[in-house]
Amino acid sequence: MVVLGAGPAAAKGWPTPAAGESASGGPELLFTFDDGPNPRTTPLVLDTLEKHHIHAVFFLVGEMAGNKNPKVAAIIHRILRDGHVIATHTMKHKDLCRVPEAAAIHDLDDGKATVEEAAGIPTAWFRAPYGARWFGLRPAQAALGLTGVMWTAIGYDWRLRADQVVNRMAVKAANGAILCLHDGRELRVKPDIGATVETVRRLVPMLLDQGYTFETVTRLICSTN
Ligand SMILES: [Zn+2]
Repeated sequence: MVVLGAGPAAAKGWPTPAAGESASGGPELLFTFDDGPNPRTTPLVLDTLEKHHIHAVFFLVGEMAGNKNPKVAAIIHRILRDGHVIATHTMKHKDLCRVPEAAAIHDLDDGKATVEEAAGIPTAWFRAPYGARWFGLRPAQAALGLTGVMWTAIGYDWRLRADQVVNRMAVKAANGAILCLHDGRELRVKPDIGATVETVRRLVPMLLDQGYTFETVTRLICSTN
């Protein structure tokens, strides 16, 4: 059911997101989280999603997912067990526009392989760190069988207060919207995601009250191909 077209949530300047037909009859959106997994912070987000029985997509950084710490493996398994979708966010979270082409391709390749090995399943979804629109992205994604997923609303949750993030996201929520928050902070081992956790706690019930259903990436796609 993926219908590519200019939905109301189309992000200015970005490739067109999808606003497919709604299966629920009401507005649908996609919740996404970048920069995990982190055994200390990711569960804080998962707890709220679980409480409200909603699903999201987690764009995992290979460097974090490939950590042999058993707590990391446990959190990846919980993400899957809870019904979320796992995707890749490169190996080392580099800005792909600022590294040599070979390094960028290697970062994509390595990230996908590492996330898949850690999760035990393949992934078809990818988001470039910083949303970088690197010229080589299209062929690199195609070679790896990845579809790029951009966002229509990003929270700036790494620097804004929760109330500010909630307001940003509430304004930009629309049918077909793809919301981007962060359960980690780039490669930080001990990130402070307090604003993100509080945002999710406030935003999810607010959007549910407004009639939104939370879809998975296989039904709502914003392709950067
Ligand atoms: Zn990121």
